[in-house]
Amino acid sequence: MNLERKIVGILGGGQLGRMSALAAARLGIKVYIYCPEEDSPASQVAARTFIGAYEDKKKLKEFADSVDVISYEFENIPVETVRYLQKIKPVYPDDRLLEIAQHRPTEKKFLNDIGIATARWGVASKAADIDAVMSEMKIAHAILKTTRMGYDGKGQTKFVHGDDAKEAWKRLGGGELIIEELVDFVCEISVIIARDKLGQTAIYGPILNEHRHHILAKSTIPAPIPQEISDNARAMTRLLADAVDLVGVLALEMFITRDGHLLANEIAPRTHNSGHWTIDACAVSQFEQHIRTVAGMPVGTPARHSDAIMFNLIGMDAKKTSRWIEMKNACLHLYGKDEIKEGRKMGHVTILSPLKNPA
Ligand code: AMP
Repeated sequence: MNLERKIVGILGGGQLGRMSALAAARLGIKVYIYCPEEDSPASQVAARTFIGAYEDKKKLKEFADSVDVISYEFENIPVETVRYLQKIKPVYPDDRLLEIAQHRPTEKKFLNDIGIATARWGVASKAADIDAVMSEMKIAHAILKTTRMGYDGKGQTKFVHGDDAKEAWKRLGGGELIIEELVDFVCEISVIIARDKLGQTAIYGPILNEHRHHILAKSTIPAPIPQEISDNARAMTRLLADAVDLVGVLALEMFITRDGHLLANEIAPRTHNSGHWTIDACAVSQFEQHIRTVAGMPVGTPARHSDAIMFNLIGMDAKKTSRWIEMKNACLHLYGKDEIKEGRKMGHVTILSPLKNPA
């Protein structure tokens, strides 16, 4: 008798794909990567890589034919690519979640429609709309964001009513913008959820997230926030996962406002940087959940055996690893990227400490 060994295909070659491939290897599952770059962080540890453009149907078909199921590790894969692949093999999460997560107004509307609060928002399709929409929203301070392709603070700028709208419009690329009310928040948190085909879920967090130059710098678990807010954040994330009939992993990023409310900011339809500590502080990491759920296995326990703080190693931080190597409770992860660039995520380190509240 043979053990059934699945092959999971992952679109994207970054560190999230790398860590999912490593988790898959532990389960005896092979990962094939599809990405445009040679020697990507994920393909360095994957069983096989298909190098091709996300629009190359011939190459995509070859990839799809060689795997059992397909997933993705970043959200800027064209939705058409996922729709094409879905005709050949199952893709998890499916095109609907990807489409929602790729376009900020669609994302905000979807969240609001299922009862999840966000910052108030409007859309400007030309520079002259910005002040008019802000007047209508009765706000003086806003964040303008490109509706697509924004990440790590790219494609966004603060804007005060009456600022030079034409200049801001041009600086953000001259396309459709979302105008969000500037939220007065005390902190930013995220919750990560894995959901399997039977609808069973495993939840990590809330996690407290601190950014430097708009890039995640530090994540702390547990987040030192009131229990009620924590329960609400988890409930909101579960509501979202059920609403999109998630198979796979997603993260919901949220603000806690000064007056104690939760506002959702962004959905990541994939594993999330704020969950990297799960590799070292849990028996089952977010990456193992990713592989399990898309490969048709049940979710595993998200229980933590340690508390944790994760620091991202960004740019030159990757050169200063000796202190982490010497530290007994530090778990160092480097992503196999040769070239150090400012703002580039090169690795992370997770510092473990005994559980303060083992309940
Ligand atoms: P995003 O690209 O939407 O994840 O935004 C990047 C960062 O900008 C967030 O992590 C926040 O620190 C900040 N930010 C985004 N939207 C708002 C908002 N409406 N009000 C205040 N700060 C925001």
